[in-house]
This record gives sequence, C-alpha cells and structure tokens, in this order.
Amino acid sequence: MTPDRPPSAPTAAGLEAVSCPLCGPAPGAALQHRFSPFAVVACRGCGLKFLSPRLPEAEVLKLYQAESYYQAGGVGPGYDDYRQARANWHKTFEARLAAIRAWQPAGRALDVGCGPGYFMEVAARQGYEVWGVDVSDYGRRLARASFGDRVLAGTLEQAPLEPQSFDLLTAFDTFEHLYTPLSFLSKARDLLRPGGLLVITTPNARSWLARVSGRRWVSFKIPEHVFFWSPSTIRRALGDQYRIVTIESAGQYTSVEFLVRRSLGLRGAAASRLQAVAGRLGQVNVWMDNGSMTVMAQRI
Ligand SMILES: [Zn+2]
Repeated sequence: MTPDRPPSAPTAAGLEAVSCPLCGPAPGAALQHRFSPFAVVACRGCGLKFLSPRLPEAEVLKLYQAESYYQAGGVGPGYDDYRQARANWHKTFEARLAAIRAWQPAGRALDVGCGPGYFMEVAARQGYEVWGVDVSDYGRRLARASFGDRVLAGTLEQAPLEPQSFDLLTAFDTFEHLYTPLSFLSKARDLLRPGGLLVITTPNARSWLARVSGRRWVSFKIPEHVFFWSPSTIRRALGDQYRIVTIESAGQYTSVEFLVRRSLGLRGAAASRLQAVAGRLGQVNVWMDNGSMTVMAQRI
C-alpha cells in the first residue's frame, strides 16, 4: 500500500505561544531545545517541559486523520508500521494489563486514544467491557470493525458518556498529545466511579533515556507531542482528585529490525534494504525501556 504523502511542515506563521498549565505565565519558561519553528521550554516554577510555540490544536488534529500518520515509515510525523507492529502492541498491552489487573481486575473500561483498538482487543479478551474514543477517523474505522458503536469520535471531553460509569480509564501514549491536560483529568474523574483506576503511559522527561538523549530523545515528536511530563509534574496535575497508586517506568515490545532502523536513522530505500537483509533477525522481538512511565491513580 502506498501511504498518502505525510503532511508538510508548517511555517512559522500561525503558531501559538503558551504558558505552564500548572503555574500560569508568572514564573516564565526557559528554552530547552529548538525545533524551529517550534521550541521545547521548561517552566521555571515546576519544571514541566512543553512545546511553545506550538501549532493551534485544530491544525495538529488534522495530522491524525490520515492513514499516513500511522504508516509514515519513519518519514515525518506518524507511527512507524503501526499496523504491522500489531502483534508487538498486543504483547505490550498484555504486559500493561497484567499490572492493571492487580488494581482493577474487571468492569467497564474506556481507552482514550484507542487508535485501531489494540488495547481494546486485549482487554476484551480478559473480560472487560471495553469502550474507546479517538480523534482519528482512520484509527476509529479499524477499531469499529471489532467494537462498533463502542468506539466514539472526538476528544474525551466531547464524548457523550454517563458520569461515574467506568471502572478503568486508560490513556496510552496519548497524554503528551493533549492540549488541555487538566480538563482531561477532570473529565476522566467525572467518568470514573469512586475508586476507579486511571492509567496513563506517557514519555518521562526525567527518564534515563531522556537525559542521555538530550535533544535527540525519541519522544520529542514535534509538533504533535506538546507536553513532556515527569513523575513530579504529573503528580501536581493529578492534584487532590486522585490518589497515586504507582509511577513506574514503562516499556514496549519492538522488533530488532525496527530498533536498528531507528538508531541508524534509515528511511525509504535504505530501510527497505535493511528489512530484506535482516530477514528472520527482523522478526526477533525484544522488550525495550522506551523512556516512558506508567502512572496508576485511583479516583477519589
Ligand atoms: Zn509550571
């Protein structure tokens, strides 16, 4: 399949400068890394890193509509061979669900940013009643093939769902994309029953991988990642609406071929040649610390 041409890079015009959602504009923010015309800055008050200036939200939402976002093959924004990596996502989500089951072993689950529905598939197999919500038409179309009307369009805040109707709310590799993370957390609290579990996996700006990688950190996916949380900043964001259960480093299963391709920065024809040469080695899958963290918190 030939992917659509990935969306082109934006110009400097029309970007928006933002201040820390936890502290407001008063403390100011210090430049960390330039990704012209964007920049990653750190709040001088709490240390939260975020993209400023950034695209307006309506612009970045457009990026997620196309299949090319999921199949960009390492060129521009997108998730590398997302569908081909389905088996690895299943294994990754099975491992994450094993940790979740210790705290919330059953019930109604809502996956925010469900994409093609890989976590939904794993959770359904384990007996949860699963729902999903996603801003991407493409991701939703795939998830709806299995889950029909339980896959809702739009953001969590827009989803027409009953208050206090879920036991589990998950957001994997989604929170860093959110323009209004505090309103997300308060909507999630509305939807969870008291004692219900919120699970967020997001890049950890204080992780070993982030610190040794500097500007080249794989989670600086610009312009679509707009916040780079850490255990201390996400703790502040959760505030007194949640009781934090655990904050642990997250990982994922990935193929050796993918790791080599990424670390060498191979694209296009060079990447295809590696895939051909790697052969069976490319099929070997490994567990990788990806510099992300998983936060589990109970709704109070
Ligand atoms: Zn701050």
